[in-house]
Amino acid sequence: MKVHILLGPPGSGKGTQAKRLVEKFNLNHLSTGDILRDAVSKETEIGRMAKAIMASGKLVDDDTVNGLVFARLQQGFEGDVLFDGYPRTLQQAKALGEFLSTQMIGLGNVVNIAVPDGVLEARVVGRRVCSNNDCGAIYHVESKPPKQDGICDLCGSPLKHRSDDTAEAFRSRMADFNASFQPLLGFYEHQPHYRSVDGNLAPEQVFESLVQLFPESA
Ligand SMILES: [Zn+2]
Repeated sequence: MKVHILLGPPGSGKGTQAKRLVEKFNLNHLSTGDILRDAVSKETEIGRMAKAIMASGKLVDDDTVNGLVFARLQQGFEGDVLFDGYPRTLQQAKALGEFLSTQMIGLGNVVNIAVPDGVLEARVVGRRVCSNNDCGAIYHVESKPPKQDGICDLCGSPLKHRSDDTAEAFRSRMADFNASFQPLLGFYEHQPHYRSVDGNLAPEQVFESLVQLFPESA
């Protein structure tokens, strides 16, 4: 068993690429959300702690997240594991490194899907969504415009620009994200397992570059 890590900013398509890698290489897909729900439903000790933290309205702290992840890894896996959304902070990355070496678990690929902030911003700001909740079709003013301006191709409802999709909202989210992400990236960048792929390409091409990195170790 080896542990692989997929990193990337929100909007990089990381979640979709993770799913495809998991299918292609038969990996175990691990997200902290899934581990958390599992531990809470099984009422493990750390699951009960996490539940109490969430019930008090707080974010689950690094030590608790690490504890949940390590407990899950200790149960073992058949085949390799792909982390998606973990580690999220420098503290988590350091603790994971120590855990893996004490458990003699190998670190496989650490891959970052790199997309410039400006490109992410253009993706977000140009997004238009169908106002009909039953439809929910997503468009982009440049890369995927509707046939008729402002109207959904599928159901004819007006398209809307969500308040989360403004440049201001995007920049504020990115500033929060980068405050944790840049130190995390700095930690991995100088390690031999680290690779970066160009995320400013079509999803199919991004997937191809990811596939090139995996066969050896998966
Ligand atoms: Zn629609």
